Amino acid sequence: MKKILGFLLLILVSLSISCKSKHNDSTKTILAFLVLRNSAAEAARNAANAANGTSNYDSISTYYSTMTTLNVQVVYESSATPYDSSFTNPFTSTTKNVWDILDDNMKEAFKNRKTSVTTSIPKVLSSMTSISSQNKTTWTTTDIINLAKTYRTSTSTQTTGNFFVAFVNGYYSSDGSTQNTNVIGVNITGTPYIAIFKQVVTSTGSTTPSGIATRVYVEQSTLVHEMGHALGLVNNGVTMTSSHQDTANGKHCSDTTCVMYYANEGTSALVTFLQNYIQTGSNVMFKTDCLNDMQKYSP
Ligand SMILES: [Zn+2]
Ligand SMILES: [Zn+2]
Repeated sequence: MKKILGFLLLILVSLSISCKSKHNDSTKTILAFLVLRNSAAEAARNAANAANGTSNYDSISTYYSTMTTLNVQVVYESSATPYDSSFTNPFTSTTKNVWDILDDNMKEAFKNRKTSVTTSIPKVLSSMTSISSQNKTTWTTTDIINLAKTYRTSTSTQTTGNFFVAFVNGYYSSDGSTQNTNVIGVNITGTPYIAIFKQVVTSTGSTTPSGIATRVYVEQSTLVHEMGHALGLVNNGVTMTSSHQDTANGKHCSDTTCVMYYANEGTSALVTFLQNYIQTGSNVMFKTDCLNDMQKYSP
């Protein structure tokens, strides 16, 4: 705040000099208004940070300007363990660690930037943190924020974006009572917090190519989707470079083959999406419009 006041004072002084006395009164009024408005914005930001356990650096503008490391922290309840094995793509026969899917998508999103971004994503359970059972059957937005406030090891800094992913038992609840049994994952808007509802993941996968492989893809594609939201997609903090927001469905992409298409966050359409995706042989799930938004965003 001191910096802003100092800066405004500097403008006031320079304006006073250049505008002479004629405009001084109105200039002062405008500047007083700006000071008040900045104070209000800062107060609102401080209140949001206090409520969410975030810092000013947990922001889209930091991720796309000064961030040099994209770090993901993963915690899980013991019976909601993430998949961490290697898997073989049935169409291309290539073998990779499942977390390479998220990693490859993040690398693609931050490709060709002036400031290069390194990813730091855990790929095996030993690099993730087992947490005690939370004994919950429903999770509200507040519950997820509170979990992050308890277990997140660090807020983001100017150079490190710290994203928090929790694998939990139970279901998301938007109203605090109804269980949304089709919601695989959520990103809490305005925070780097993601929850994955493992019971929903394991309820999928009765179709081809094979049960377990489908679940692995369901889990990873949901992580990619929610990270997409946390990173400002679609029109969720990052300016669009083309008109591709499916406004009827919120912050989603109109390209049905893109991981940010709204239905690809739920269980039914996702399986079809994944079958097509697997056949491409590439790990990248974002399509051109979403990739352009992220690669070209420079706040
Ligand atoms: Zn979504
Ligand atoms: Zn897209």
